[in-house]
Amino acid sequence: MPAEGPTGIRFLSPLFKEPLPARLDRVTGTVRGTNISDGANTIHTVEHLLSAAAGLGLDDLDIEIQGEEPPAADGSALPFAAALRKAGLKEKPDQERRTLTLAGRLEMTKGDTAYAAYPSPGGVSFKLTYAHSHPLVGSQTVEFAMDPDEYLVRVAPARTFGFSHELEALKAAGLALGGSLDNAIVIADKEILAKGGLRFADEFARHKLLDLIGDLALAGLPLKNLRIEAVRPGHAGNVNFAKLLSEKAAPL
Ligand SMILES: [Zn+2]
Repeated sequence: MPAEGPTGIRFLSPLFKEPLPARLDRVTGTVRGTNISDGANTIHTVEHLLSAAAGLGLDDLDIEIQGEEPPAADGSALPFAAALRKAGLKEKPDQERRTLTLAGRLEMTKGDTAYAAYPSPGGVSFKLTYAHSHPLVGSQTVEFAMDPDEYLVRVAPARTFGFSHELEALKAAGLALGGSLDNAIVIADKEILAKGGLRFADEFARHKLLDLIGDLALAGLPLKNLRIEAVRPGHAGNVNFAKLLSEKAAPL
């Protein structure tokens, strides 16, 4: 639903006393997805929906939710992005638009995960590398210049993925019980199981980019004139990097 004020992206539910802002200070979990909570209620795996909103350039959005998780849909952000596009986006000419940008270079590394961000006058762009020792995955690098139309075509359709041994372990633990080829790509020992085949040769890297865009949206402000590079990113790193970015952001 349209948000009245400059309220950012919020989740609304009859179970909540007040709207839950999709913001870094509400993040309570980053294992296999990004969760936010008001202390009493948790919404799980918000990143694909947030990615769709951020990818289309939405600053303010109220999301009414039933249950504790947005639908898995097909494992991508396309159903969300397509629905938002269909609903139509509205300019708020009277509202001042605050953005997040940097005066200098920012880096963060942990283990084999690395992030960097630096000012770039041409807009917001990404370079992301995903790598895995599985021979059918290897190393994939995606470059992307932020643009709503391009996001819809090149990023939103990339589906989440998992390795078959992980999926078996998760199901044994009573998790991911709804996980199937309808909402994820499964990488088995000798083959990649993807409904309708892979949508992109580098679909894994593109999905990691989709996740990164969603997690960075938790900073609460749209990015401006930034180049962002990430190697082997994950939700925990994404959220920590978003925090660092928010701390170092130049006031605008
Ligand atoms: Zn994801």
